[in-house]
Amino acid sequence: MKPVKQLTRDEAAAEIDRLTNEIQVADEEYYAKDKPRLTDAEYDALRRRLILIERAFPKLKQPDSPSDSVGASPSATFAKIEHAQAMLSLDNAFEDADVAEFVERVRRFLKLGANDALVLTAEPKIDGLSLSLRYEAGALKSAATRGDGRIGEDVTANALTIEDIPSRLSGAPDVLEVRGEVYMSPADFAGLNDRLRAAGDEAAANPRNAAAGSLRQIDPAVTAMRPLKFFAHGWGETSEPLGETQFDAMARLDALGFQVNPRMTRCGSAVDLLSVYRRIESDRAGLDYDIDGVVYKVDRLDYQSRLGFVSRSPRWAIAHKFPAERATTVLEAIDIQVGRTGALTPVARLTPVTVGGVVVSNATLHNEDEIARKDIRVGDAVIVQRAGDVIPQIVEVLLDKRLKGAKRYKFPQNCPSCDSAAVREENPATGKIDVVRRCTGGLVCPAQAVERLKHFVSRRAMDIDGLGEKQVAALFEERIIREPADIFTLAARQAAGDIDLYTYKKDKKGAFVVKDGERQATNRKSVENLFASIEAARAPSLERFIFALGMRHVGETTARLFAQHFQTFDAFASMAKGAHDRESDAFKEFLSIDGVGELVAAGAINFFAEPHNRAAVDRLLAAVSPQAAKAPIGGSSAIAGKTVVFTGTLETMTRDEAKAQAIALGAKVAGSVSARTDILVAGAGAGSKMKKAEELGVRVVTEEAWREMTSAA
Ligand SMILES: [Zn+2]
Repeated sequence: MKPVKQLTRDEAAAEIDRLTNEIQVADEEYYAKDKPRLTDAEYDALRRRLILIERAFPKLKQPDSPSDSVGASPSATFAKIEHAQAMLSLDNAFEDADVAEFVERVRRFLKLGANDALVLTAEPKIDGLSLSLRYEAGALKSAATRGDGRIGEDVTANALTIEDIPSRLSGAPDVLEVRGEVYMSPADFAGLNDRLRAAGDEAAANPRNAAAGSLRQIDPAVTAMRPLKFFAHGWGETSEPLGETQFDAMARLDALGFQVNPRMTRCGSAVDLLSVYRRIESDRAGLDYDIDGVVYKVDRLDYQSRLGFVSRSPRWAIAHKFPAERATTVLEAIDIQVGRTGALTPVARLTPVTVGGVVVSNATLHNEDEIARKDIRVGDAVIVQRAGDVIPQIVEVLLDKRLKGAKRYKFPQNCPSCDSAAVREENPATGKIDVVRRCTGGLVCPAQAVERLKHFVSRRAMDIDGLGEKQVAALFEERIIREPADIFTLAARQAAGDIDLYTYKKDKKGAFVVKDGERQATNRKSVENLFASIEAARAPSLERFIFALGMRHVGETTARLFAQHFQTFDAFASMAKGAHDRESDAFKEFLSIDGVGELVAAGAINFFAEPHNRAAVDRLLAAVSPQAAKAPIGGSSAIAGKTVVFTGTLETMTRDEAKAQAIALGAKVAGSVSARTDILVAGAGAGSKMKKAEELGVRVVTEEAWREMTSAA
């Protein structure tokens, strides 16, 4: 692409036309349909170039330029529903060995002996759209998509038009959440595409996209015309148990009138599971639904509840995916994206190609070493692979097709955003050179600042509705928001007349500076909504707030551990500030948190060691009050809030199960005994920890006493 400085006036005018048009088409696709053609990065690149050209040729700027718009919130169409129980995703297995390991892991966790039976169910994994149906007193109350797992979209009116979804149940528990997949059969999909093409509309890429697009129609009458189907495969909240096993519970749902997959079977071993997998795989092409693997679940529901969850996935289920699909295409370019921690990530731009029914135009290249190892060059013919929802990747370069003169790829040594040096650090713990090259620009790097802001407002962090990635990027570019604290002064600055967000029109057509009164009013409404959601974000939960700060290595799970351990932000921050010395008690306290290692602790500690981070947090705390954490479940139990350490060999359960149970009851589990320990649970052969606990006067209980305490709770 020609640099902006070299454009003639005519070329600039032509390009402004082209960019404006492309952005408007992209906006329309993004808001009105279910298949945005451009990635966010591609879209941002278009807008960036348009703004640069407009700056160089201000007279050419059109009065209705999309560069003036902030864009609309993508979720504006459907109301939100919070799931009573989170909709989790399953862990994946790709190899036979993963399945054997899964079964072993379950047996170990449950402490089953060699002769104890472990029954598992196996069923096809439907490639559709997850839906949760809530029935109260036998009537369908709501239908919600998965969303981020906690909050989904309300598609009740549309779900009611699907024949497989009963609107009333008789003999059902008073509260019953049924979960399953909405899908379209391949034959119905072909018929729908024929009709769409005949009507001059765009066809869908595959049955899954067609099902998603059909369910998310704004007009339920359109959904009603679409041949959607539904398979139930599980449940969320229920006021009474559906059965004692997965298999019986599914039979109950079947009896209540839901479609349950007829190929679900019970198996007694990993070998059995794999033979069912092979059978389903060989029948795959003949099924009247698309599948992408086989799901295995522990059958006994009491086992399921003992196994519980880790992070976002249940320990008692796994999805065994079918092998990836591959296609050949051409690598057109390598783009470098800069993340919020400065990581430079290479992305392959490909000539679009269909892989397993999905059009792929980007693929991950992992990192610098990977490109060098495979000697990937721009212009190469490559084999791209796609497995399930995983980002496509380049698995092989077709060297015999390499063009003469193709040059070895040189990874940039400077940040493409701020031009600071980009370096690969040595990991102090291992002495190894990091595989990731990072921009050293820190605060001066606009790409990092924008990514940090996007992370801050994202759904799993502060969840500020109406402030999406595009809006953040636009407001950053126009210097209206430079750091998180600035978000909370928007309303005041608007009221004072320092900024005017009302001139940013937000609707699905994108992009006009508004003149007439009616439109002004519509826009005023969406800005007021944004202000309201910013107000609502002033009292976030402690774990969300810690996660939102975007400290290196501190993900959602770690943020939750910190929140549960420290309870208040003050306690967390002052401990992190005092923990710089590795010999300090504060540092040891970080390491005593179960699940927190040195790398993760260093992420938090190094963050607070930077004066500019502390200053930015202080400015933020002037506007935001993170709520003190409370014990999530079992808050009233005798062990809620207590710090528990396990030592020795437990007889009736594994250490993992004991820890999971303690956390579920609101306790904190630590790895070592300190003055802060409340209870030491001592199994057989307890040694040094027991001695230390006695020295410190910590209460020591036997495994039996612990079981009594937890069963009473
Ligand atoms: Zn940079």
